[in-house]
Formats: sequence, C-alpha cells, structure tokens
Amino acid sequence: MKIEQLHKLYLSCNSVNTDTRKINAGDMFFALKGENFNGNQYAEQAIEKGAKYAVVDEADFANSTNIILVDNVLESLQKLATFHRDYLNIPIIALTGSNGKTTTKELINAVLSKKFKTTATAGNLNNHIGVPLTLLSMNQDTEIGIIEMGANHQKEIEFLCNIAKPDYGYITNFGKAHLEGFGGIEGVIKGKSEMYNHLIPRGKTIFVNANDSIQVEKTKHAQTYSFGNTNSDVTISLIDAQPYVKSKYNNLVIESQLIGAYNFSNIAAAIAIGNYFKVDDTNIKTAIENYIASNNRSQIIKKESIKIILDAYNANPTSMKAALLNFEKQAGTKIAILGDMFELGGEAETEHQNIVNLASYLNINQIIFIGENFFKTSVNTTKASKFKSFDTFKTNFDMSQIKNSTLLIKGSRGMALERVVHAL
Ligand code: ATP
Ligand code: MG
Repeated sequence: MKIEQLHKLYLSCNSVNTDTRKINAGDMFFALKGENFNGNQYAEQAIEKGAKYAVVDEADFANSTNIILVDNVLESLQKLATFHRDYLNIPIIALTGSNGKTTTKELINAVLSKKFKTTATAGNLNNHIGVPLTLLSMNQDTEIGIIEMGANHQKEIEFLCNIAKPDYGYITNFGKAHLEGFGGIEGVIKGKSEMYNHLIPRGKTIFVNANDSIQVEKTKHAQTYSFGNTNSDVTISLIDAQPYVKSKYNNLVIESQLIGAYNFSNIAAAIAIGNYFKVDDTNIKTAIENYIASNNRSQIIKKESIKIILDAYNANPTSMKAALLNFEKQAGTKIAILGDMFELGGEAETEHQNIVNLASYLNINQIIFIGENFFKTSVNTTKASKFKSFDTFKTNFDMSQIKNSTLLIKGSRGMALERVVHAL
C-alpha cells in the first residue's frame, strides 16, 4: 500500500497503537516484532478489541479486510510518521543529550503549553519506534511538537532527525553515558552532534547553553539562541541549589521543585525556549515552579525519620558524579546507596573506581555499593570504614544507622534500586 493511502486510513483513526493490551476503539494497530514476540499474531485480536485497522507483514495473518499487509511493519510506521510530519507543517523542537532529556522535555512542554497547544513525547518514548509514535500522536490542533530523541550508538540521532525533521534543537549535554555503544566520550560527542549536523545546513535554530563549551564550539557557525551568562541571548542564573534549584531570570526568582544543581541547565533551557517563543514571564515562572519530577527521577520521599533522595531511574558516570556532589551539600547524616552503572564497556572498571575515589573524599558518612562492578573496586584503607559493598542486591543494612539520616539512592535502571525504598 502506498504511504499516502496508509496516511488517509490513519487520519480516519483515533490513534496509533502497538500494544493490544492497550487498544482503544478506532485505533490503527501496528504489529511490530520484538525479540520475544511477533505482533502479527495479535492483529486479529486487535481488530476484535475495536482497532479500525491492523498493519501486518506476514501474509498468514492478513485474513480480514481491516488487516493491511505491508513489507515491513516497522518501516511502514517510520515512513507514515515521516509523511505525517510533512503533512503537519508545524515547528518541531528536538532534544537529545546524555542526561536530562526527559526532564528538560517535560519542563519545555510545561512552559510552552501555557501559550500553545503542544504535543510532546510521552514518558521516555525516544527511540526508532517512540519518535514515530510521538509524531503520529500530533494532529491538526498541535501548534508545536516537542520530541525527545535517545541514542546509544552512532547514526541513530541522524536517523531520528530524518524522520522528525526538527526546526529547533537542543542537546542537554555530552556526558559519559552509553559509552559502550558510542565508543567513548568522543563517540558520544560525535553521535549527539548528528542533531547539529542535521540542523546547521538547513539554517535551523539551535538552543545553546552558553556555559557548555562543547555546545558553544560545535555551534559557532550555526544560527543559535543562547542562554546562561550575561553575553547570551537570555541571561539566566543559578541563585541556589539547596534544597531546590532557584534561578533568576528577568528580575524574577523562579523556585523550582527540582533538586540538584545539575537540574539548573534543564530549567534554564526551558526558560530560554519559553522566552524565544514569547511565553509571558509570569507563565514561565508558574510552569517551572509547578513541575514535579516523577518516575524515580531525583524525587524526595520521606519515610518516617528518613529523608530519601530517590534517583533510581538511571545512572551513568556523569549523572552519578552530579548526584554525589549535590548530595554532599545536604545537612545531617548522609548515606548513599549506589548501584552499578551499565553500558560502559571497557571503561566500566575505571569509571566505577572513579566514583569510589570521588566518594571517598566527599563529606558523606556512609556509602553502600550494590553490584558486581562496584564490588570489584578497591577502597583506600584509611577510608574503608565508610564503605560497604554487596555484589548482589541486598537490603539487610543496619537500619538503626539509617534512622534520622538522608539517603541518596542511585543506580542504573537494571539495578532497580527503588526496591530499597520498598524494603525500608
Ligand atoms: P534517558 O536516557 O533514560 O532517556 P534522560 O536523558 O531522559 O534519560 P532524565 O530522565 O531527565 O534523563 O534524568 C535521568 C537522571 O539523570 C536524573 O534523575 C538525574 O539523576 C540525571 N540528570 C538529569 N539532568 C542532568 C544533567 N543536566 N546533568 C547530569 N545529570 C542529569
Ligand atoms: Mg529520557
């Protein structure tokens, strides 16, 4: 079927769906394949549950008039999204970076939705399936689209940009994340810069954090809108990061509900983009101040006498370091429970050791490491009493010690350290 034709059918549907457990009446179901499933097998069920059409790529399953047979379902989904993007003809802002994409995306959406009808990536749907789904969730009412793009290897951002064709872009930062797939930090910079390579020749605008020297260097020949220091297009400064990030913008003090100085650049980006799109200053302030982090991302939880900074959503060397430096500034007894960082390839040993070395001289009372990688590190003997190490997940810590303290819980997603909170 021609993509124009598929698009016509899509326009007659309510939304696009790839999961029969979440089918709504009038959806268009795309029968994707995964490692452990074949969506084709669910096409008929999708129709029974009310889907208007199902798109499959195995002839055996194309046995009803509402089932559309294509060569490759995933490619059709991507092509449909590409076609729909041109059809929409709206400004699209794309975001990538090693850390803070989702937080920044949510903040930008909060700010811009004060003035425009926005559609943004839902949750963390930021890959070769999520980006098409995000585009297909936009309709004629959408005035601005905000798309998060994730990557763990080269050419991925280029691929996603070719689908979403952004008019604006922002790279949150270049950090030590997915080192394995990218090939070290140089590889990360190259891979993320694919967004710049897409935007610059097309004369599109790049938002630039003036305090990030790599961003500044990489965009020196680009059309930019910069924020941060006094020489930039918008001056935004960090007033204080304790207990929450407080920023100054146009004589306004913006008191966020986000912890950690590392969130300042995320907030500043959202303020700058709001400023660029001429959202009222007071609306920018309200949007930022009302935003609360979710999904185990730098959340503060109280459990009886314990204050918990739950940052168990994910970890990599850059965000781990940022979290520890922020944690050190907390008052009272501080205990950090840190889980292994994944996807570091050959740099895993060094990067875990770097964190141990950093932690040993920070003003943190106790550090509990969980995971094989941390277990293998060595600890300076004069500091040994500060450290405890488990090679597998355990929660039989000395609870009497944890009482009345502040806890930092951070590790890679696969470590699922939110289990610590449930165990307390
Ligand atoms: P993912 O790659 O999983 O999509 P992401 O880039 O969307 O991650 P967020 O989900 O916004 O990132 O944040 C995840 C964690 O990264 C936060 O809980 C925090 O610990 C850390 N983080 C957020 N922003 C920054 C930043 N600017 N610099 C360093 N670390 C950050
Ligand atoms: Mg994300």
